[in-house]
Amino acid sequence: MRVDKTVENAHECQCLNCPSYTKTCKIKNNMHTPLDVAERIDNDEHWELLFCAMDKSNCIHENRGCKCMDCPVHKKYALNNEDYCLHTGGVY
Ligand code: SF4
Ligand code: SF4
Repeated sequence: MRVDKTVENAHECQCLNCPSYTKTCKIKNNMHTPLDVAERIDNDEHWELLFCAMDKSNCIHENRGCKCMDCPVHKKYALNNEDYCLHTGGVY
């Protein structure tokens, strides 16, 4: 099922709590809270969040763990994969 790019889903996304999402990436993308992305919801095609709903990250390149399996969005859309930031569409 395709994941919707919504503010609600951005709030529920666990990526900002994930060790793979480095502090450097957060600073570089001005991505400190889900609210930051919510403010840009209509303007940006690609968010550095909610990677299961879009392409992989432009900034995260190393797997240091993944929170997708604990994420409400993952359950809501019955997703099977993880590591969506590293691989578009995620990996099983
Ligand atoms: S499944 Fe992963 S990428 Fe998708 S919203 Fe949850 S934490 Fe973010
Ligand atoms: S997709 Fe998974 S590995 Fe990547 S930042 Fe989100 S929770 Fe972490």
